[in-house]
Amino acid sequence: MLARASSSSCQDRWGGFDQAGGAVHTCDVARSTHSADQVSVFTARRVGPAGRAGNTVGTYLCADLRCAAVVHGPADAVRDRAEGSLPPEERAERIRTRLDSFVADVLRP
Ligand SMILES: [Zn+2]
Repeated sequence: MLARASSSSCQDRWGGFDQAGGAVHTCDVARSTHSADQVSVFTARRVGPAGRAGNTVGTYLCADLRCAAVVHGPADAVRDRAEGSLPPEERAERIRTRLDSFVADVLRP
């Protein structure tokens, strides 16, 4: 079960400020930047004894879960400029890899 936490409680690991001074956050999966209220921390309980003990793993995601849309969006929506210059197929593959990594963390006993 994936749970969404309040974005106001997240740390600024991927945070910063835009040119107008507004807070921005970066989605861990798409590496795209958004206003703070458009990125949330999502957590999932780990499997097995670790999960039963209450251990969770979390990641910052686009609050609307439209991470894949960044693949066809403007490159300037991606904070990592090198990644933003990649073709859509490569960007999509990187999103899949990051999601697989998150799921692997949840499934790790
Ligand atoms: Zn995203």
